[in-house]
Amino acid sequence: MATRLYINGEWTEASGGTIPTYNPATEQVLHEVAFANASDVDQAVSAARSAFDGAEWRDLLPVQRAKLLFRLADLIEENAEELAQLETADQGQPIGISRSVSVGGAAEHFRYYAGWVTKIEGRTSPISFPNTHHYTRREPIGVCALITPWNFPLMILAWKLAPALATGNTVIIKPAEQTPLTSIRLVELCVEAGFPAGVVNLVTGDGTTGQALVDHHGVDKVSFTGSTEVGRSIVRGSAGNLKRVTLELGGKAPSIIAADADIDVAVGGNLMGGMLNSGQVCAAYTRFYVDKKREDEFVEKLAAGVKGMTIGAGSDESTQVGPLVSAEHLAHVEQLVGTAAGDGAELITGGARVDQKGYFFEPTVFAGVTDQMTIARQEIFGPVLPVLTYEDQDELEAVIARANDTEYGLAATVWTKDVNAAHRLANGIRAGAIFVNMPPVPDMAAPWGGFKASGWGNEMGPYAIDAYTQTKGVWMHYGD
Ligand code: NAD
Repeated sequence: MATRLYINGEWTEASGGTIPTYNPATEQVLHEVAFANASDVDQAVSAARSAFDGAEWRDLLPVQRAKLLFRLADLIEENAEELAQLETADQGQPIGISRSVSVGGAAEHFRYYAGWVTKIEGRTSPISFPNTHHYTRREPIGVCALITPWNFPLMILAWKLAPALATGNTVIIKPAEQTPLTSIRLVELCVEAGFPAGVVNLVTGDGTTGQALVDHHGVDKVSFTGSTEVGRSIVRGSAGNLKRVTLELGGKAPSIIAADADIDVAVGGNLMGGMLNSGQVCAAYTRFYVDKKREDEFVEKLAAGVKGMTIGAGSDESTQVGPLVSAEHLAHVEQLVGTAAGDGAELITGGARVDQKGYFFEPTVFAGVTDQMTIARQEIFGPVLPVLTYEDQDELEAVIARANDTEYGLAATVWTKDVNAAHRLANGIRAGAIFVNMPPVPDMAAPWGGFKASGWGNEMGPYAIDAYTQTKGVWMHYGD
């Protein structure tokens, strides 16, 4: 049976029919999924609006709202293995990643924001009016559309849903068409947790479904994670009623390996940072600037590292590199890799799709890459590691300038034992997250967000509380 939409506390059939979602390891259809069109979106927005304006959600005491979120975290853990298997089947990621990063991360996110519910405070303001008290309140924004990508569907939904609900908003969830299944299951768990009708709504579909949400004047905020191109269209579409917009977009994270770096540590960390989820990570390390003196050693060990990785279905416990998410994305990665030879990069290993069923691409290392090559500039979102070099460790400013020569600014990393160099690089690189001697791992307590064309605003930590609230000032005159 096809999946359904969830609108106003009811599972309903979509007006737009269904679309299939595939298992990328087998190319088999996993499920027919409800396709919401503009009229379904309209109903979901009305439901979310009524739930926001009505008493049931608004009047819940903070402690009661927190309890629902704690309950949801518990339910995710109680159903952890099922969720992990579902994520691996639909997205392709190795099952160990699904268990720890996707499902474990989602549960912890709900627990973290459950804790925040009772700690959202205003302040008193020292205004210079006689006999007047001024205080601020943090109030929810209203109806929030949460539009998510296909690379970490469950975890990225948790990044949005947990703070949106913690702050008293109502939501409409729109997962990516390639990977809707864990989002649907999460909504079932929201129902089980007992959120009032209309607070959590779900519309599955493709970009047109997302576009209908963006265009709808009943939506107060869009929180979007996805490509920079679609991010731009969301900004344009949100102008009508001046929606609040948070954007987590693409990246092209540089990894700078200094002459004094421990190369074994750098190779291990860069393999994790570049190959996690087959490179389908927004903060993936995807341009490696190595001090020329260490190039040979780095390239040799990096290539040996990727050659040693086990490729296979994510459901196989030994798999380290799973498939790409779809046939379309596989073709996109293949096309980008194809530009490298013409641009003069040296293929060290990999470079082709794997000759078997499923959307698999070989882990790939290129050396001799230069700044203007397509693989050094465009987001690849695949298991492809381009190595560039720099000449002189003392010329850190030059490396910083090259690392910054991109429209993106999501993440960057530096591998060095020199604390001065680490600080200079961390301060100089224009990106939202800098990692020193470690892979790019987000944490719910630390801000996550992009500079430049990598996005607007931050998720996680207290920053997400700000992103889902607006400040009201109250002036109380108590004199005659
Ligand atoms: P995408 O932009 O194609 O799609 C993302 C979501 O937007 C999907 O749900 C899609 O259906 C929807 N959508 C598509 N067109 C739309 C439109 N016109 N209006 C509204 N919604 C629309 O992105 P993707 O290919 O699913 O994901 C990969 C991208 O996501 C990469 O660029 C990656 O860097 C980025 N990403 C960023 C972060 C981050 O935290 N910055 C995290 C994960 C992924």
